Amino acid sequence: MSAHALHTEAQTRTQGGDALLDVQHLHKAFGGNHAVNDVSFNLQTGELLALIGPNGAGKSTTFNLVNGQLAPDNGSISLNGVSLLGLKPHELWRMGVSRTFQIAQTFSSLTVAENVQMALLSADGQSLSPWRRATHYRHADALQLLEQVQLDTHAHRPCSALAYGDVKRLELAMALANEPRLLLMDEPTAGMAPDERYALMALTRNLVNQRGVAVLFTEHSMDVVFEHADRVLVMARGALIAQGTPAQVQADPQVQAVYFGSGKTFGGSSTPAASPTTGDQP
Ligand code: ADP
Ligand code: MG
Repeated sequence: MSAHALHTEAQTRTQGGDALLDVQHLHKAFGGNHAVNDVSFNLQTGELLALIGPNGAGKSTTFNLVNGQLAPDNGSISLNGVSLLGLKPHELWRMGVSRTFQIAQTFSSLTVAENVQMALLSADGQSLSPWRRATHYRHADALQLLEQVQLDTHAHRPCSALAYGDVKRLELAMALANEPRLLLMDEPTAGMAPDERYALMALTRNLVNQRGVAVLFTEHSMDVVFEHADRVLVMARGALIAQGTPAQVQADPQVQAVYFGSGKTFGGSSTPAASPTTGDQP
């Protein structure tokens, strides 16, 4: 299916383009390497959209184009019809776009609650530095956010004492401090044990439902997405090769070639093949 056909189908689904996030014909090359090649998709409020594909497919590049870390060579990105091109990550944060990182970004010297309070300070436009402690700032709000990610019992422990899965949940609470309309998560389950991965995605799913936030997350393994994503985008070698419900993409021959080509299965936690082994690329 061509990118144009994908776009037309997506427009039909959103009844003429009422998407929260609309990405059209995105392109980014590094030298001669077309890391993201004519990628179009959209995302609606209350939707959990997964961007998957093997290593090197272009997921992180797409993600970093959307979050303002990278500038595209071509294409458009808009939020509620407002172009995001040229905006820096902190400007996007002000517009209600939050992100979490593959390697969690927290202040390890502060308590769990203080980390969320730092995020609240930032959301309120206050200057922040890790040396300025936020012990008294919106403490009750911080606890409420921690309750939403089931970390309230850890609120006054140092962040450095948390288990890895708990740090990822803290990062999620910090991202929510901004009351985002759009939450971007780059491989949120990287480095996690299977039960932790499941729990984090279930939690994210609940937050999407409760808050009506839209989530775009990247993921290299398919098993994480089947259970929780509303819709899945599949990239390979810079191109969007399929999109649809988890069941639709799982049944897609090109997706199967990418993920099953090397004999790997959907269920495993191993990294999928680096590239398709069959020749049916677009
Ligand atoms: P994924 O996240 O799906 O693993 P990436 O978006 O990181 O894929 O990478 C897509 C392609 O772009 C790869 O071939 C990668 O080597 C290349 N690439 C990514 N970032 C850079 C960069 N900063 N400079 C040069 N090449 C890059
Ligand atoms: Mg990546």
